[in-house]
Amino acid sequence: MKELKIAIQKSGRLSEHSRRLLEECGIKFSNGAGVLKTTSTNFPVEILFLRDDDIPQYVEQGVADAGLVGENMVEEKGRDIKVVEKLGFARCRLSLAIPREEEFTGPDWFEGRKIATSYPSILSAYLKKNNIKAEIEEISGSVEIAPGIGLADAVCDIVSSGSTLLTNGLKEVITILKSQAVLVSNRNISEKKTRTLEKLLFRIRAVKNAKENKYILLNAPEKSVEKISEILPGMKSPTILPLMEKGWVSLHSVVREDDFWERIDMLKEAGAEGILVIPIEKMIK
Ligand code: ATP
Ligand code: MG
Repeated sequence: MKELKIAIQKSGRLSEHSRRLLEECGIKFSNGAGVLKTTSTNFPVEILFLRDDDIPQYVEQGVADAGLVGENMVEEKGRDIKVVEKLGFARCRLSLAIPREEEFTGPDWFEGRKIATSYPSILSAYLKKNNIKAEIEEISGSVEIAPGIGLADAVCDIVSSGSTLLTNGLKEVITILKSQAVLVSNRNISEKKTRTLEKLLFRIRAVKNAKENKYILLNAPEKSVEKISEILPGMKSPTILPLMEKGWVSLHSVVREDDFWERIDMLKEAGAEGILVIPIEKMIK
């Protein structure tokens, strides 16, 4: 098989974003419901639609050459696969939560208790490391209702906003692991597939960089240009175009999303006016 086989979640919290990422990388594929695999019409990949739990195993065994999956699954399954790149979506954490009315006294609270989870391996490693003896009740879904129905005293589950815990009368007390989606690959793929994977990775990074940065245009007095250039390190150095009005220029650069508001304040202080901020679709460094 010459195509790189890449596994993504069939349906769930990773699936839409995974499909979108491949599409943003310019990879076209048909997307019918109930389809288990499909071949791209314009890039040498075959896409397999799987349960996220199975992705690490399939990638280790070479059934798939690569996959998009949560770090939590990679950690839980403990398979010998390579984490190639963090993807920045499906951010969540694996946490311990207890009934809201309980007073939390620290990790010792869990001593002798029963904890429901879909992550027995990560949980037992955590308990062992912290010298806590607790019983693990493995269940495959709807973990958060376990204390309410008397199945367990606490849960170890995926949290993002915490609203699911809240509606089930639970409070988060310890974060065990932080997670986001990652690109994983088999450790022994052919040279040809490695090249395809590198090409895919190049595109993924361009999409990711674009999301992490904004294009910024602003007007400024000529005398502030140096100061403003320092605030906007950009890709190389800013583009500067003269304005009709004497002594003024238009300055173009990129700004990182994460410290965007701080930079804007600094720019205003430095004399910038008419600031426009525009999303970038692809960014190749
Ligand atoms: P499958 O049927 O494929 O086994 P699932 O029900 O086990 O699906 P999902 O709930 O779709 O799994 O979650 C898939 C992954 O998405 C999780 O392993 C985690 O990495 C991430 N995830 C889960 N919940 C959230 C959340 N609330 N916010 C962000 N990411 C999440
Ligand atoms: Mg699953």
